[in-house]
Amino acid sequence: MPDATIAIQRPQRWDVPFDPDMTDADVDRLLSIEPFASIDPEKFPPSTPLHGILKNDARLVKFNDGDLIVREGDYGSSAFLILSGAVRVTLENLPNKMLGRRERERTGLLGAIAQLWTNPNKPEVRNYKRGGDDDVARRDEKGATRIFLQDVPGVLGKFNTLRIEAGEMFGELAALARTPRSATVFSQGKTELLEIRWQGLRDLHRRADALRAFIDQRYRERGLVVHLRETPLLAHLSEADIDVIADATEFETYGNFDWQTAFKTARGQSAQQRLAVEPIIAEEGHYPNGLILIRSGFARLSRRYGNGHRTISYLGKGQVYGLDAIAHNWRSSEDATMPLRNTLRAIGYVDILRIPAPVVEKYILPSLPDKYMPPLIKPELEAEKPVATTPDRIDTGMIEFLVENRIINGTATMMIDVNRCTRCDDCVRACAAAHDNNPRFTRHGTIYGHHMVANACMHCADPVCMIGCPTGAIHREPTTGDVVINDQTCIGCATCANSCPYSNIRMVEVRDTRGRFILDEATNTPINKATKCDLCVDQLGGPACQRACPHDALKRVDMNDVESLAWWLNR
Ligand code: SF4
Ligand code: SF4
Repeated sequence: MPDATIAIQRPQRWDVPFDPDMTDADVDRLLSIEPFASIDPEKFPPSTPLHGILKNDARLVKFNDGDLIVREGDYGSSAFLILSGAVRVTLENLPNKMLGRRERERTGLLGAIAQLWTNPNKPEVRNYKRGGDDDVARRDEKGATRIFLQDVPGVLGKFNTLRIEAGEMFGELAALARTPRSATVFSQGKTELLEIRWQGLRDLHRRADALRAFIDQRYRERGLVVHLRETPLLAHLSEADIDVIADATEFETYGNFDWQTAFKTARGQSAQQRLAVEPIIAEEGHYPNGLILIRSGFARLSRRYGNGHRTISYLGKGQVYGLDAIAHNWRSSEDATMPLRNTLRAIGYVDILRIPAPVVEKYILPSLPDKYMPPLIKPELEAEKPVATTPDRIDTGMIEFLVENRIINGTATMMIDVNRCTRCDDCVRACAAAHDNNPRFTRHGTIYGHHMVANACMHCADPVCMIGCPTGAIHREPTTGDVVINDQTCIGCATCANSCPYSNIRMVEVRDTRGRFILDEATNTPINKATKCDLCVDQLGGPACQRACPHDALKRVDMNDVESLAWWLNR
C-alpha cells in the first residue's frame, strides 16, 4: 500500500535565487562600493543577512547601447543601481512603435463587416513577417529577449532625455509601490547594472537607514507633492500648504505584495478566516489619528456585526478614509467626539499615505470646500443604521462577493445578468468575429444572485499579470489604460498566465495562414502565445460583446465606479 504522506524540506525564500550565477566574489565587490559599503550588516537578522540579500535577491545585468531597461507604463518589480556606464531617462513619451508596442489601427465599419468572411477558418492563425519595422527585439548574451532603440542618436536629437551616471539608482519607487514605471530608461553605450528584486529592496528599505532615507526623500521630492496636488480634497490649498502637508505625511505599506499567490491558496477559507489575516490599517472604535489616502491596492471597510464583521464597502486608489470622523471631532465639543465607525483592512496589498489629524485640522479643514465637508455624525442614527446595505445601495452580500473574489480589481469586468441572458451566445460570436474567429472569453464564470462575472480579462487596476513579463509584451495601452498583449514580442513564457489570479489568460499554439502549427526552428516545438480579451482595442465602438448582446444583459463594469455599478445591479 502506498504511503499516505511524504516528507520534503519546507520551501525557503531563497530556494530560487534571482540569478543562480551570482557568486560570493560578486557580492564582496558590491559590499565594497556605495551604498552597500555604508550599510551596517548587523542591522540584518541572521535569517536574511545583507550578504544573502545581495546574493539571492540581486543580479548583475549588462546592457548594450539602446537597450530598454524599463519602459514607461510597464509594471516592474525591481530597481536598478548603475554600476558602470550611464543611462538616459526620457522626459517625454517615445512613440509606441519605438518601444515595441503595437500602433493600434481601428477597424472601420466596412472592415468590421468584411471580418465575417475574411477571418481564417483555423484557430489562432498568425502572419509573422521576419525583420521589418516591427523588429525591435534582440537577444542578450544569456538568450533573453530585449527591446532596443534602433536609432539612439536620433532619439537623443529629437527627444528630451536626462543622463544619469554610475552610482545612481532608478526604478525603486515603482517597484516598492507597484505603480507603473513613470519613464522609459535606456542604456547609453554599454552599462552594467545591479537589479534588485522587490523582496530584497523591501528588506534593504526596512533595515538600511541611509537607503531608506534616500528612497523616502526621492519619493517626497518626485512623487508625493504631485500626488497630494492631484487629490481633489487638497486641490484648494496653496503650494506652501501642500509642502507642509508633504513634510508631515507618513508612508505605510500593509499586506502581502505577492497577494495573488496567497489569494489562490486562500480560496477555500471562510470569509472570517480571510478577514482575520488582513492587516488592520485603522480600527473601529479607535480615535482617528490621520487622514488615510490609498496610494495603491485595495482596502476593505467592515463593521462589527454580531460576533463577526460585515464588509460594507471597499476603497481603491485615490480614495480617502477618516475624513468624516476627523471633521466631526474638529467641529464638535470635546464630549461629543466620535471614534472611527468602521475598520479599514488591507486586501492583499495596500500602500497608503497618512496625514496626521492635527495637520488636517490646521491646513485642510478650515478652507475645505463645502462639497467635500462631511455632515456631522449623528450617534443615534449610527446605532440604527442597518448594515445590510451600503450607502451606494449595493447589497452587502454582493460587496462581500466582489471583495472575496477580488473582482474589485476590475476596471472593465464582464458582468452578465443571467435573468436577462437567453444563452444565445451572440456575445461570444461577436468576440470571435473581432478576433480572427478566436473568441477571447467563455460565457462562464462565478455567479452571485443573478449576476455572473464571466471569465474574461477584467483590465485590472492592479494588473499583476504584467509583473515579470520579460519583454513587456503585456502592457497598458497608454491612451486607454487597457491591458493588452503585443503578439509580436510575446515569447510564450506563460509568466502572465500563471500570474493572473483569475485565470483569464490562455496560452495557445499558433498556426500560419495555411493552418500549419508554427514551430521553433531550434527545438521543433510549437510556438505559444498568450491571448486574452483586449476590449476590442482595434475595433470602432468598443467591446463587441457588450454591443452584440440583444437583451442588454452584458456590461463591462468599472468596479471603482460604485455608483454606476449600483445602478446597473439595481436596474
Ligand atoms: S489578465 Fe488577469 S490580472 Fe491581468 S488584467 Fe486581466 S484579469 Fe487582471
Ligand atoms: S507569455 Fe505573457 S509574460 Fe510571457 S512574453 Fe508573452 S505576454 Fe509576456
